[in-house]
Amino acid sequence: MSNSAESPSNRPLRVAIIGAGPAGVYAADILTKSNQVKDGDLEVSIDLFEAYPAPYGLIRYGVAPDHPRIKGIVNALHKVLDRGDIRFLGNVTYGRDLTLSDFRAFYDAVIFATGAIKDADLNIPGIDLEGSFGGADFVSWYDGHPDVPREWPLEAKEIAVIGNGNVALDVARILSKHADDLLVTEIPDNVYAGLKASPVTDVHVFGRRGPAQVKFTPLELRELSHSKDVDIVLYAEDFEFDEASDEAIQSNNQIKTMVGTLTNWIAEQPEDLSELTASRRLHLHFLHSPVEIHDDPAHPGKVTGMSFERMQLDGTGNAKGTGEFVDYPVQAVYRAIGYFGSALPEVGFDHSKGVIPNEGGRVLDTAGSPIPGIYATGWIKRGPVGLIGHTKGDALETITLLLEDRKTLPAAPAPAPDAVVALLEGRGIDFTTWEGWLALDAHERDLGGRAADAGLRRERIKVVPRDEMVEISRGGVTAQV
Ligand code: NAP
Repeated sequence: MSNSAESPSNRPLRVAIIGAGPAGVYAADILTKSNQVKDGDLEVSIDLFEAYPAPYGLIRYGVAPDHPRIKGIVNALHKVLDRGDIRFLGNVTYGRDLTLSDFRAFYDAVIFATGAIKDADLNIPGIDLEGSFGGADFVSWYDGHPDVPREWPLEAKEIAVIGNGNVALDVARILSKHADDLLVTEIPDNVYAGLKASPVTDVHVFGRRGPAQVKFTPLELRELSHSKDVDIVLYAEDFEFDEASDEAIQSNNQIKTMVGTLTNWIAEQPEDLSELTASRRLHLHFLHSPVEIHDDPAHPGKVTGMSFERMQLDGTGNAKGTGEFVDYPVQAVYRAIGYFGSALPEVGFDHSKGVIPNEGGRVLDTAGSPIPGIYATGWIKRGPVGLIGHTKGDALETITLLLEDRKTLPAAPAPAPDAVVALLEGRGIDFTTWEGWLALDAHERDLGGRAADAGLRRERIKVVPRDEMVEISRGGVTAQV
């Protein structure tokens, strides 16, 4: 390991970014394209670390496989990493394989871009019953996350999905869609088999506020109506609009579009719901606040129903309880009420917000002062809100501050790029590289192509077991770093 304590001004600035999802890739891209770098005032050398063997974070493990926007984003991120000026090091877990002191030794600046992958808690009675799930866990399952069990119990005929965000819509769409219609996507084989065997007939999505207060977005809402043999069902008594709703409809085009879509759907719906013809139904309920998930004496410990309090809008766009309670027979409940960040070793964590305490991306110590050379970006910086594109603005803010601080960053004692690789090798860490990802990517496409040859039209089949991902990625890895 080289041990030069040269000042960063005499050599390329060494930056580690931890997390190769959109937040990490955007931060790397923005730094390499900054004016200082373009004008030749600054040279940067960036290593992008990822805990999984493959890059892309929540794009690979958090977005529904049938989502039309994924491909464009994956292509954009691919282009950035394929340029060759950002080094990808996958299958390396921060805090276990490399500690913060290790990073401090090799890099002048460290940016945390670890995102938020856990489900936010919903503290209601019955949440721990068998059949009650976190939506994010289910997303990880259908996206073939390597650390999630391969089996998922899909035994319920009637399912409740709690929340009115895009994750709730993704979860509800995947639960209600016929598995054969997902075969064109990249779903893993075990996911196809699980969904194919699902006996589901009715998926109920519950929002606690009204149709003008939904958090999902127009494209995602419209997508629901594209599922074959699935009828969307709405309820007239849920269509309540207060003054704040009217204002939102007037001032926000997205809300206007979505309220328009929902109103058209309910207008087109037969009055007698028994006239609906599809074999599955996706119900959208509003003004239902979750109260309790319950079992019954015949099925102790298992979800058999869920109660909600009916809500009414209070004039400000918020909802208050009416004191009226309703019950739905369901055998499974998925809460999709938001993600939550996870604490990382050796950096602070705000347990109420699920973020690393920071000021514009400068990570703070317990006294509230910036820790030199440590930054955060993306959902671990600001919490799990906003579409993927919003993380670009975030990354720009963090990188701007890092560049402002550049003269005072604590110089890494071992900045040579091969030093970190030597340490990983010395510790026996099977890290993966960009070339390794290209090999895995080609392998997954090839698997899809072979299925397509057999008439199944599959674009890619994800490799799920971590060992297998690593093995395919590491075919000849040593020469590639
Ligand atoms: P989200 O957009 O914040 O939505 C959370 C939903 O849960 C809201 O409807 C919220 O209602 C509700 N909720 C929160 N606490 C609740 C409680 N105690 N009881 C009942 N309902 C509760 O979160 P998300 O769906 O996890 O999405 C996170 C971000 O990822 C969003 O920005 C989303 O757009 C993005 N995303 C995008 C896509 C896509 O583009 N396809 C896919 C997935 C995720 P209130 O509004 O009343 O609080």
